[in-house]
Amino acid sequence: MRATIFHAPGNVTVEDRPEPTAGPGALRLRIAAASLCASDVRVYRGEKHAVAGVIPGHEVAGVVDQVGEGVEGIREGQRVIICPIVACNRCRYCLLGRRNRCEKRLTLGYDLDGGFADYLLVPPSIVATGQVFEVSADLPLDIAALTEPAACTLASLELCGVQAGTSMAIVGAGPMGLLHLIMAQALGAGPIIVSEPIAERREIAKRWGADLVLDPAKDDVKGAVKAATGGLGADAVIVSVGVAELVGPALDLARPQAVVNLFAGFPRGGAPVPFDPNLVHYSEVLLTGSQNATADQYRRTLRLLRTVPHIDEVVTNRYTVETSPDAYTARLAMNGLKSLVQFAGVDPA
Ligand SMILES: [Zn+2]
Ligand SMILES: [Zn+2]
Repeated sequence: MRATIFHAPGNVTVEDRPEPTAGPGALRLRIAAASLCASDVRVYRGEKHAVAGVIPGHEVAGVVDQVGEGVEGIREGQRVIICPIVACNRCRYCLLGRRNRCEKRLTLGYDLDGGFADYLLVPPSIVATGQVFEVSADLPLDIAALTEPAACTLASLELCGVQAGTSMAIVGAGPMGLLHLIMAQALGAGPIIVSEPIAERREIAKRWGADLVLDPAKDDVKGAVKAATGGLGADAVIVSVGVAELVGPALDLARPQAVVNLFAGFPRGGAPVPFDPNLVHYSEVLLTGSQNATADQYRRTLRLLRTVPHIDEVVTNRYTVETSPDAYTARLAMNGLKSLVQFAGVDPA
């Protein structure tokens, strides 16, 4: 089969790899679509680790094409997505149902082969823990491939207590900031205020229904967020761009007792971020971070995706496995929103 291979930062090629076979307890998927994550781009930039020689791709959707011995409840031909985390199932976090925090976790696409290839081997651990989810017939697989980033977004929104009527400030309207916008809308949140320096992205945020879209280069973001929230500040603040200098100003957008979530990853070794400790003490602002999602959040996201406005517009750049290295360079150039690698042979509808 043809596969994208990560060798080292800046070095991604397309090569022939043997097709995997599903041993006992495992599944093999014929991949329909796999999307490129911001963290894949961080690996490409050398900011995050992945094993040399691994097949990237953890945001995948496909069709079960081999069912290993002993697997129950999953059949050939089933359209599925997976939660790509292999967990130990024994540590404190696993016992709490938070396999995304497992101390020994391995992730497909970083530590084990992922989905930028015709076939993906789903290891027995992922199958046994129920991390394979059927995609309903009304959801195309090229949208279902967005379940992983959307589940990470749902985890972030739930951590912030976002529900109908929650006011939000979203700092950064890249693909993940925009996913926050449309998923929060699906949950009924609002008003939602987006701050983004790139005009093209501000336009998308406006078109996708943000209540207020600000340019941090010339607008008074803090004043505008206060004005839009009855003078209080936002109930939830999402920092979805990994620029440490934005953390302080983001804290200024929060009302007392708000939750501020650092959703983006930040480059390692950056300077520490100063902030006013009285925001935490007197204003009782909760400052937190989030990464990945629980398997149950994947399950619920798959349901929610069917009603998320504009979800079919999130993918702007489409590639084949042969052109997949271009997906990385396009992302480095900030060209478009989500990039998707699509595979012939599986009808995404
Ligand atoms: Zn991802
Ligand atoms: Zn564990």
